[in-house]
Parts: sequence; C-alpha cells; structure tokens
Amino acid sequence: MFDSLNALLSQAISAIEAAGDLNSLAEAELRFLGRKGELTGAMRGISSVPAEERPRVGQLLNEIRQKLEGEIAKKRAAMSAAEISARYEREAVDVTRPGRIPHEGGFHPLTIVVREILDIFGRLGFEVAEGREVELEYYNFEALNIPADHPARDMQDTFYIAPGTVLRTHTSPVQVRVMEAIRPPVRIVAPGKVYRCDSDVTHSPMFHQVEGLLIDKGITFADLKGVLGAFVREFYGPNIAMRLRPSFFPFTEPSAEVDIQCVLCSGKGCRVCKNTGWLEVLGSGQVDPAVFGYVGYDPEEVSGFAFGLGVERLAMLRYGLDDIRLFYENDIRFLSHFK
Ligand SMILES: [Zn+2]
Repeated sequence: MFDSLNALLSQAISAIEAAGDLNSLAEAELRFLGRKGELTGAMRGISSVPAEERPRVGQLLNEIRQKLEGEIAKKRAAMSAAEISARYEREAVDVTRPGRIPHEGGFHPLTIVVREILDIFGRLGFEVAEGREVELEYYNFEALNIPADHPARDMQDTFYIAPGTVLRTHTSPVQVRVMEAIRPPVRIVAPGKVYRCDSDVTHSPMFHQVEGLLIDKGITFADLKGVLGAFVREFYGPNIAMRLRPSFFPFTEPSAEVDIQCVLCSGKGCRVCKNTGWLEVLGSGQVDPAVFGYVGYDPEEVSGFAFGLGVERLAMLRYGLDDIRLFYENDIRFLSHFK
C-alpha cells in the first residue's frame, strides 16, 4: 500500500514537472486530484485498509495531497508570471517611435477659388443665387437672345437631355430666372457647374462658372468697369493692369472681354499669354434690352450689366497649371498642394 502510494506521488510529481503550459498543468491536476482522480480514488479506498494501518495511510494520503497541491500552485504561479511577461514583451509599445501623422484634408482648389470670388463680390454687395444644371432650352438660349440658328445651339456643343431640355452650357440662365422672380434692383452672383461637349487639355465637358448680374436705375458701362476692376485688383493684386476689349455676346450690348496683364510674365510675353502680355479672364457687357423684354423689365427704366468668368481658367492662371484635367483626377498628391 505504502509503495503504491509513493509510486503515485512520484508519477504525479513528474506529470506536474512535465506540464509545459497552464492547460496541461490543469490536466495533471484533474488526473490526480480531480473528483475522479487517482489520489481521490485512493482516498476513497481507505475503507478497505486494515483498521490498524488506516491512520498512517490516511496521514500519508493527506501529506501526498498537500504536497501535490503545493507543487501545482507553485508551478501555476511561475507559469502565469512567465506568461504575463511574455505577453508584455509581445505587446510592448515603443513609446519612443514617432507617431503616425493623421492625413489632413483640405478644400479642392476650385472650391477655394469659387469661395474667394464669392467673398469678393459679397463684399461689393452681391448675393449668391443658384440655378439648375438641367435647364430648359428656353432659359439656356432663347431668353438670353440666342436664336435657334445660333452656333451655340449646335448639337456638338450642347448636351441634350430630351427635346427642349439641356445640361446648361453656361450659368447665364440663372440671370433670367432671377429677373423673372424679383424686381430691380438685382445684384447677384451665381456659381455652378456647366456642361459642353468638349474635351482637351484646356476644355472639360463639365466646368465651373460664376455669373454676375447687376440691374438698377442708371447703371452704366462705367459701373461695369468699376466693379470688375475692383474684383481683378482683389483677386490678382492691387497693381495688376486690366483692359476692356470689344467683343460680342448675344445677351449683352455693348460687350467686352476683360483682359489682365499676364500674371506669369508680367506683360513681357510668354507661352501662356501667346506673347501678347495679356490674359483674357472674363466676358461682360451691358444687358441687352431684348433680354429685358423676356422678363418684363422696362429698358427705359432700368439698365445693368452681366459678366461671366471661368473658375478653372482663373484657378489655372493662379496656380500655374496647364492641364484642366488635373482638377478632376482627384490625385491626393496634386490636391495636397492646396491646403
Ligand atoms: Zn505671359
């Protein structure tokens, strides 16, 4: 009996020593000390031991149990500590390493330019008006004095959605809709997307314009020149030279293109200004009395001027870009220059 108990003890000790992790230690514990374990079985068998040997056997069994419990507890503590420090090592964070810099977003260059334009005209007393991108042919052409045989109505330039409905080719229809809705005085700027069937390095089928309209009693061409001069000086700098060049638009009379001194060569002549020293930046003119006829304004009573500028063109000149497509490719490396 004593020999078999001592054999059980040394078996249990070697099982505990052999346990390589907490799981196999728990298995060893179950195998010897569990409810159906070998030592527990031996303890239950004590009733078959002769009465005179029982106290000694009982004492030995208790000693064995205490020894095994002690060994297991010791080993478990050592293993847990080892596991924790291994985990610390595995999951250690090197606080001396540089952190990850979060990516900082910014406005698109076209958004920056539009906001700046609206801000300048806002300070001159203009309010922002918005129109629709899908527009009736009537507002896009006819009410702007663009007759049916005008080249601007050609299918090659205009995206037709349905008969009589187009993607607007300019922001000018907003003028007509605003004049239909309110009586003078009118002082608005209308930013937005416009569409033309055209695509190369300086043309995109979708681009942005800002339209302006000022109508009141006694507005003259001098007011046009004054307002656009103020805009050009605010946008390009106080010393930039500006000139008005006679031009033609169906909805203004007289009409003028506004040129500024080339911002890249300061007027000396370069590739961008085609050696003229001047850059065309916007179109403008006195509102044609025929347009007033469409909206019920009396040209004897009020007068005014309108202008339109291409946002992409202004942005390309400002940032020295020669390919309009850069604005639409959404290349983060390009866009991050404008933060
Ligand atoms: Zn130039």
